[in-house]
Amino acid sequence: MLLPELSHRARRGRGMTSQRTRDRMVERLASQGIRDARVLEGMAAEPRHLFVDEALAHRAYEDTSLPIGFGQTLSRPLTVARMTELVLQEAPRRVLELGTGSGYQTLILSRLVPALYSVERISALHQRAAKRLKGLDAPARLKAADGSQGWPCAAPFDVILLTACARTLPAALLEQLNDGGVLIAPLETPDGKQWLTRVRRVGRAFEQRRLEAVRFVPLLEGVVE
Ligand code: SAH
Repeated sequence: MLLPELSHRARRGRGMTSQRTRDRMVERLASQGIRDARVLEGMAAEPRHLFVDEALAHRAYEDTSLPIGFGQTLSRPLTVARMTELVLQEAPRRVLELGTGSGYQTLILSRLVPALYSVERISALHQRAAKRLKGLDAPARLKAADGSQGWPCAAPFDVILLTACARTLPAALLEQLNDGGVLIAPLETPDGKQWLTRVRRVGRAFEQRRLEAVRFVPLLEGVVE
């Protein structure tokens, strides 16, 4: 649906999807505390408006999450930027993202890490994201599957990033971390709050650190065909 229009003009956008609008988003991100120039430059360059329905494209650069169908959301720019910063801090070689969703976070990461894998449980979202990312020549390997199983044959990873909120840490994921590697995930505490959490593997031990309060859709089980 979007692919044939991925011409220069579509990528550049006009009006509310123009380079100027993107630059304003990036200025806002910098004022919100995003410091990593690679993240700011990446988000200034990439067409976020191609990752939502055309009817919502004019809102793509606002400071908000947006619906992408199936009850799921494209994360707010600040969230994408912050998660990307946290990933890059690890100087990772191999990264696994769980929850491809629209594919926008996948796109930003794919330009900045050497090897990116991404899993989505809703087939229709996976297919849409795959088309968009192919059209933009994004070097990410994608599959439709239940991400809580990780991607065993591509493991181990330096970073595993969850873009949906887990209640407990899936053991299969922790096992697929390199020694020194991290899992970055929104985790729900028993009081119903969500915290962006970083879990570092140190040998057989896992050191957990709470970073900041966040709001994500839940990590769910199984695949939706
Ligand atoms: N980074 C995406 C976020 C999408 S929302 C974006 O900005 O577009 C979170 C996504 O995680 C949803 O698409 C949801 O379907 C997916 N998800 C939830 N549980 C999952 C699981 N167990 N495995 C893979 N994907 C999952």
